[in-house]
Amino acid sequence: MDKNKFLLLVILIFLIVSFSLYQPLINIFKEEPVLVPEITSLKSINNTIEEGETLFSIFTKYGLHMEELFEMKSATASIHPLREIQVGKPYTFILDKQNYINSFTYRIDDDTILKIERVDDYFLAHKCNIPYETRILTIGGFIQDSLVSAFGTEREDYLLALQAADILAWDIDFNTDLRTGDTFRIIVEGLYSDGVFKKYGRILSIEFVNNNQTYNAYLFEHNGKTDYYNAEGQSLRKAFLKAPLSFRRISSCFSKSRLHPILKIRRPHHGIDYAAATGTPVSAVADGKVFFAGYKGDYGKLIILKHHNSFSTYYGHLSRIKSGIRKGKKVQQGDLIGYVGATGLATGPHLHYEMRKSKTPINPLRVKNVAGKPLPPAQMADFKRLTASMNKIFTVAVFYDTNDIERKNHYLQPTLLSALSISKTQ
Ligand SMILES: [Zn+2]
Repeated sequence: MDKNKFLLLVILIFLIVSFSLYQPLINIFKEEPVLVPEITSLKSINNTIEEGETLFSIFTKYGLHMEELFEMKSATASIHPLREIQVGKPYTFILDKQNYINSFTYRIDDDTILKIERVDDYFLAHKCNIPYETRILTIGGFIQDSLVSAFGTEREDYLLALQAADILAWDIDFNTDLRTGDTFRIIVEGLYSDGVFKKYGRILSIEFVNNNQTYNAYLFEHNGKTDYYNAEGQSLRKAFLKAPLSFRRISSCFSKSRLHPILKIRRPHHGIDYAAATGTPVSAVADGKVFFAGYKGDYGKLIILKHHNSFSTYYGHLSRIKSGIRKGKKVQQGDLIGYVGATGLATGPHLHYEMRKSKTPINPLRVKNVAGKPLPPAQMADFKRLTASMNKIFTVAVFYDTNDIERKNHYLQPTLLSALSISKTQ
């Protein structure tokens, strides 16, 4: 054997030996189901549902007793059918020495756990809420192109943007009113589990500067109802929504592709034209009754709603009128009534939106939305205390930018909150 070959052999042996020594180390980092050592006579299996798996195949995989699967299924049938298990959801089995199930827990969603426990010789199933710790976060940002992108890239950020849009839907049309440089600051609950941010809770207060005008909203609870109010204690809910195209509906249609339709408005005549993709959902701007739903000349497919105080609204060029929307039908503010199209005299898909008072067309953008209902006087002292606390937070707290990846770890310290006499909710 020449020297080179000998050297190669030595290296090879060295590699084999070191690799096999290394193997246990590698295993630690693999996400294998963890089999807890037998401290008691019980053991546990922790794993997540994999692609294509059913409970039947999981039972087979771990050599569990199939008759227990059927017992589990009947125990949980009326609570959460086991066939609805989803890929990626974590589950845990606690087993005895003979692989009989002591308990099974499955994470239904972010908030709920399904737990099946053995009680004597049968299974008892129940759902329970995952307890969260509520912290208070202060977050701010500014608009560059769209509301959704201004809030960040995670799913939770997207949901927070929709929550903000819902709160201000009577004052700002988030599809068309936003301006580059608009700013927002938000005081919001963060829900944590084991110290880790899980999701946002409710927005407690928001300050939104749109086109140099500042909008404030405060979450206030009275008589068991919570709602948002402006600084004067008037409800933000008003008779008319700012726009017939709901930002939430449009965003959720397009969220999968992460694309957001750029809506443009034109005012060529008595009304507003919203250029939007065919099929974009159209919402009733106010409570009312359907006065007309059908085809009408240049309007194409048209819906006319009658509202209080002799107001009416027109929605034209629809591709489709939602089934059930016909003359005499009552609708509520925000209800989906139809879909954008190009029927009638239209060069491209758009929503023709018109508002009339008696018979006279009026400019919906100029209609002064009557202020929402004020809080009862008896509630005002409490409300003023709340707004004072929130305003102090707006003054003294740091608002972490939506680009700051650490923003969900900077929460207001309990000492500050108690100094502001804000007790944590939940
Ligand atoms: Zn038009």
